[in-house]
Amino acid sequence: MEYFPITVRLQDQQCIIVGGGEIAHRKLKSLLKAQAKVSLIALDFSLDVRALAEQYQLPLYQQDFNEKLSGKLLDEAYLVIAATDNRELNQQVSVAARRRRVWVNVVDDLDLSTFIMPAIIDRSPLLVAISTGGVSPVLARKIREKIEWLLPTNLGQLLSKLKAYRPRIKKKFPDLKSKRDFSEWYIEQAITDPTVIKNGFDANLETYQAINAGNQKGKVYLVGAGPGDAELLTVKALKVLQTADVVLHDALVSEQILEQVRRDATLVHVGKRAHNHSVTQDETNRLLVQYAKQGLSVVRLKGGDPFIFGRGGEELEVLVAAGIDYEVVPGITAASGCASYAGIPLTHRDYAQTVMFITAHCANSIDKLNWQSLAREKQTVAIYMGLLRNETLVSNLMEHGRDGATPIAIIENGTLPEQRVVRGTLQQLSGLVKQYQIVSPALIVFGEVTVLADRLGWYQHSTLLGAQVKLSENDEDLVLRKVS
Ligand code: SAH
Repeated sequence: MEYFPITVRLQDQQCIIVGGGEIAHRKLKSLLKAQAKVSLIALDFSLDVRALAEQYQLPLYQQDFNEKLSGKLLDEAYLVIAATDNRELNQQVSVAARRRRVWVNVVDDLDLSTFIMPAIIDRSPLLVAISTGGVSPVLARKIREKIEWLLPTNLGQLLSKLKAYRPRIKKKFPDLKSKRDFSEWYIEQAITDPTVIKNGFDANLETYQAINAGNQKGKVYLVGAGPGDAELLTVKALKVLQTADVVLHDALVSEQILEQVRRDATLVHVGKRAHNHSVTQDETNRLLVQYAKQGLSVVRLKGGDPFIFGRGGEELEVLVAAGIDYEVVPGITAASGCASYAGIPLTHRDYAQTVMFITAHCANSIDKLNWQSLAREKQTVAIYMGLLRNETLVSNLMEHGRDGATPIAIIENGTLPEQRVVRGTLQQLSGLVKQYQIVSPALIVFGEVTVLADRLGWYQHSTLLGAQVKLSENDEDLVLRKVS
């Protein structure tokens, strides 16, 4: 290890910056954040530096840096930063500081520095520092961005609670292990559920003791997993998956997503299985209640959004009846995800003012559809589970006046690397399904907007198949003009 990480208390310590320009200003700001006492030495000071100096009553020494003039200041300094663009001068500062064993940082010069400053995430009192040993500040910043995104937003609050609770925790849990167990539990809860912080110490202690006594309350999270691409999970869904005890998932939930589940959680597959045996809805409901009653954190993970053709409502009714707590975490529904990844805007000022999501998986659901309104022009219809009944769909739509030449798109495995988009017309639908041997999951979209897939498709893995139907003879111009 080339650099030893420490965090230094700079409050009221005498620090010196040599330089008075933009970089000096930046360094000055960070030293002031740490409440240091700063003096600056330079021949010239920028307006920004002057303004800060005035605000904080800092001494500005407008002079050449040399040991004779500045030696006394250096003798009293805790650390020095050289922020000039003159290497010779920077070197003088460095030598003078090192002679006095004062820490020195020379901006952009590792050889002349005895310490360097990391990229930081400041959620004081929490501080995350990232150092690449001065090799790549750009990489340090990139890593900081990634970590910043991962950190819960309420860390500052959490730390102040932990500080306030410290005496009580110590009293309640005199031995080290039980204290650590409680703190671990509390932190984990507070990070995933903001209400925990609001609840106060006693309420949390009670919950914790109930859990340890084996009679804690379970909770069910009804979570939308999105259409397939794991990066389309919401941040909340990811958090819940990473803390779950049990996850009941459908067949539609992709491998990529199941990999995000906490390693020692129990995975229960309640969708269609390989041998076509499926767990009935009643059985799923029963399992949900049973696990929650064991005091577990149960995730019911569904493809897309749980409230769109997902029976989410029915499952919640069961939980309400059983008196079980729950939360719903929405997901990106297939129509939205698949359309985005196929380059089909579901609405478009010129082609569609309305979008409808329908399902057509059995005779029963087909009979209930309002064909008159579905067959109208200038609207987009996304059909879930429409593969099996596609012939009935087409004949009904055409009988009710939708033009057989209406453009359509079939999106198979949308948002996944295997995504295929097949384009054609309404009357070709059944033929295309057979020709390209479309398999589930597939979404059928019909309406003028589907034409745009040819031009706006962007997903690099996606294959575009089928006849690329145009809206009119000179549709080429039309689409180009309208899109650009
Ligand atoms: N609740 C889910 C829909 C469940 S119904 C949601 O909001 O998306 C299942 C149907 O959704 C499938 O038959 C298919 O029509 C569609 N679907 C789900 N994921 C899909 C995907 N990745 N690609 C294409 N269609 C998908």
